[in-house]
Amino acid sequence: MSFSKASVRDAEVAGKRVLVRVDFNVPLDGGRVADDTRIRAALPTIEALRERGASLVLVSHLGRPKGEVVPELSLKPVGERLAELLGAPVQQAPAVVGADVETLAAGLSPGGVLLLENVRYEPGETANDAALAEALARLADLYVNDAFGAAHRAHASTEGVAHRLPGYAGLLLQSEVERLTAVVESPGRPLVVVLGGAKVSDKVGVIDRFLEVADGILIGGAMCFSFFRAQGIATGDSLVEEQGVELAEEALARAGDSQCELLLPVDLVLGRSFDADTERRESDAVEVADGWMGLDVGPRTAATYAERIAAAGTVLWNGPMGAFELAPFAAGTRTVAEAVAAAPGTTVVGGGDSVAALNEFGLAEKVDWVSTGGGASLELLEGKKLPGVEALRDA
Ligand code: ADP
Ligand code: MG
Repeated sequence: MSFSKASVRDAEVAGKRVLVRVDFNVPLDGGRVADDTRIRAALPTIEALRERGASLVLVSHLGRPKGEVVPELSLKPVGERLAELLGAPVQQAPAVVGADVETLAAGLSPGGVLLLENVRYEPGETANDAALAEALARLADLYVNDAFGAAHRAHASTEGVAHRLPGYAGLLLQSEVERLTAVVESPGRPLVVVLGGAKVSDKVGVIDRFLEVADGILIGGAMCFSFFRAQGIATGDSLVEEQGVELAEEALARAGDSQCELLLPVDLVLGRSFDADTERRESDAVEVADGWMGLDVGPRTAATYAERIAAAGTVLWNGPMGAFELAPFAAGTRTVAEAVAAAPGTTVVGGGDSVAALNEFGLAEKVDWVSTGGGASLELLEGKKLPGVEALRDA
């Protein structure tokens, strides 16, 4: 499949004002940007537009202020970091929309950049309110969506505004869609999918899809306990998403009829509580006694998963193998991350925590595509249409 939406590359932007939806939803630490990966990821689109003589009005959300002005979630620190990365001034709007903001936008000269305040300060954002979409549209001549991480949401700044201005895909958004679509539509074989993390119900859709298109699914993280529970295996005090048990049962039933192998852990690392200082024990079985919880996959499981990853033509990894934030329970995630980094096949990693793990291990550079979208990447891989992409002009 080739990308079917109009690209910002093909838009006439010289002398135009462009509203660019970016995903600057970055972690903050004491009023500073703690990780600027997402800001860097938006630079190609921003720089291309500036070079071509456009002026830019940037709009993003940050956290969940739920329609109210929450000063701790101001985009100010983001604007400061962006100015450093661009080596150019970034004006900061005092609000999202309104007469003052319109005046600032109208005053931009070619190459100028204005960053709006956190769009989720406006209750109309998540409601995809028409009045907010109109107010955003009044700020510019064209619209570019480069916020892949928010493209699965039909919000005013991701969807509504695209019906009111000519809408184009940004470079990051396009690359994300192309890279992720290629994994399901034309993967090198075997296609191996590694799934972990905490929420089965968010990820079961992707399991269903991959039972049809992948050659192997390797399950780790807390997710495996929903599967063990479905198989009647004792899970002790492990984190089990109850809602996920039934879904896991269905996935196991489907896996029986599928060409795709579904692998579950064969050993575990146990702890007494979710705590780095807890008593730790490696277990050669997957049954977990009361008083213990599974916090990582064991070394035999990790070695098997690493072998499968090494032999894969394509690897997709979403979700850590264990509670990797706790050093005693990080080994399984590290082994998988190192295997993905070393794999000769095409490698794609998505999911906020999985990407954080890759960064922590210093391995992100060794992966072919690190997705900036968690939920958006899963929905795309499931074969769902993303509203923020659909609303753009066709190519
Ligand atoms: P991603 O953001 O990569 O999609 P998730 O958000 O689904 O991943 O899950 C990440 C979280 O899952 C991490 O905080 C990690 O501590 C937790 N986790 C993984 N394995 C376990 C486990 N066995 N028990 C408890 N929590 C776990
Ligand atoms: Mg997460």
